[in-house]
Amino acid sequence: MKKEIIERISAIVGEEYISTRKDVLLTYASSASMAKEPVMPGAVVRPANATEISEILKIANEYKIDTTVRSGGTSLQGEVIPKPDGLVVELMRLKDIKLFKDLRSVRVGAGVTYGELDKFLSEHGLWVPITPESALACTIAGNTAVNGAGPGSSLFGCTGDLILGVEVVLPNSEIIQTGSETNPNAPGPFLRYAFGPDLTGLFIGSLGSLGVITSVSLKVFKRMEYFDYNTYGFDTPEQAERFLIEIRQWDVNAVFASIYEGPVLELFMEMLGDEYGIPPMEWPHRTVSMTIGRVRKDMLESDAKKAQELCKECGGWVLGVKELPRGEWNERLWTFVRASYVHGWHWRTLYHHQTPVNIHRSVEEITKVMDKYGFLGHTAGFFTDHASANMYPHLYFDPTDQEDEQKIVDAHDELAVTLYKTGAVPFKLAPFWKDKMEGTEKYMEFLKKIKDTIDPNGIMNRGVLGGI
Ligand SMILES: Cc1cc2nc3c(=O)[nH]c(=O)nc-3n(C[C@H](O)[C@H](O)[C@H](O)COP(=O)(O)OP(=O)(O)OC[C@H]3O[C@@H](n4cnc5c(N)ncnc54)[C@H](O)[C@@H]3O)c2cc1C
Repeated sequence: MKKEIIERISAIVGEEYISTRKDVLLTYASSASMAKEPVMPGAVVRPANATEISEILKIANEYKIDTTVRSGGTSLQGEVIPKPDGLVVELMRLKDIKLFKDLRSVRVGAGVTYGELDKFLSEHGLWVPITPESALACTIAGNTAVNGAGPGSSLFGCTGDLILGVEVVLPNSEIIQTGSETNPNAPGPFLRYAFGPDLTGLFIGSLGSLGVITSVSLKVFKRMEYFDYNTYGFDTPEQAERFLIEIRQWDVNAVFASIYEGPVLELFMEMLGDEYGIPPMEWPHRTVSMTIGRVRKDMLESDAKKAQELCKECGGWVLGVKELPRGEWNERLWTFVRASYVHGWHWRTLYHHQTPVNIHRSVEEITKVMDKYGFLGHTAGFFTDHASANMYPHLYFDPTDQEDEQKIVDAHDELAVTLYKTGAVPFKLAPFWKDKMEGTEKYMEFLKKIKDTIDPNGIMNRGVLGGI
């Protein structure tokens, strides 16, 4: 990157907050997306606030510099891999947290991680009820930009469902606020759908392509203290899927409900059974692992009883293995990922949302692809939102084997096409979905028009959001 550009940005942030050192650039060349090749940027800048970001973007526009927005760097699908000689804008210095207790909301800077926010809120008996398993390193803003999900989503939806407003520096350097805080006299964040159309939504799931989110305002809730952990067995996928729907219809507060096939649980339990204290056993055709949470004990007891009744009505039986859902909930699924890292496995995942009554169709397609390409993997997913399930199939491969690496890319591409045909939708509109979503041409054209309007020089996260 040209020396004069570095000097001008340095004058904005201070020389200690911009770097062109090789070792630093190497760190920012990659991310947690271990199945993607690193790319060396030209510089990394770490601004302190929205005004500095706005000034940096003016320069980026002037020189038409490819700019990558980055927070925790934990995303898995290559979204923060920079462009060659591009600029990485890293946001981890934006650490403000402001609680509005009576408004049941909090405003956080873009550098605040879930872990930091949870520690802060726990001192007030509150929480943000959705926690991605990457919570210790990933930021609220980063998870807003991907519209993430995690334990808690089975009841509260995706991260976007908690958002009341955002402050954003647009690619053209203008700073805007959305939601009720657009009124400078507002006592804090209290309503998202204020001032006409939902402009907050424009930035949820935008993968850093439509602006730099500098603060996020979101809902907080009283921390639940009462939990019921249980597992439910079913002989057919349809019974298990019906159970998930009935749980929702009857307002059973399932904060986390995941669904597994027998062989997948056997694979997981081979890695984790001892640690969880679960002896080897023959798992049913389908197992639903569920945590019910409530702020009041009487409500929890009533919900736990209803869940058991519904399980039987759907043709299932109560398995009673409590260690599995307890592990999922308390350790935020982290154990599963840790176990696969420990085994030295690399994986690619094809996150998608599927409606619960069609989970078996995702499983069929994933299994077909695993068999065809000879990959080991898993098909697990969990209930999110009103009537949706977040599926996160992992395909494991050997990164030292080039043939295997090419095969995994082909398998991944094939899966995107076949899953879409089952009616599934992308969880994150990552670049590999491009050209695989028949019937979305008009929608993607419209999205591109918006992008071109606010990013006329195409500097921000080029090619990341569905390839635009
Ligand atoms: C072990 C592990 C477990 C994971 N589990 C989950 C999970 O349970 N649920 C889940 O949703 N994800 C999960 N992920 C993926 C990842 O943590 C999420 O995508 C997370 O939201 C990324 O946040 P981040 O702060 O690390 O953002 P980054 O990785 O830095 O960026 C993610 C995307 O958002 C954009 N972006 C980042 N910050 C901003 C900003 N301030 N303004 C605008 N755009 C921005 C980036 O350009 C990029 O496109 C997991 C990852 C790992 C490694």
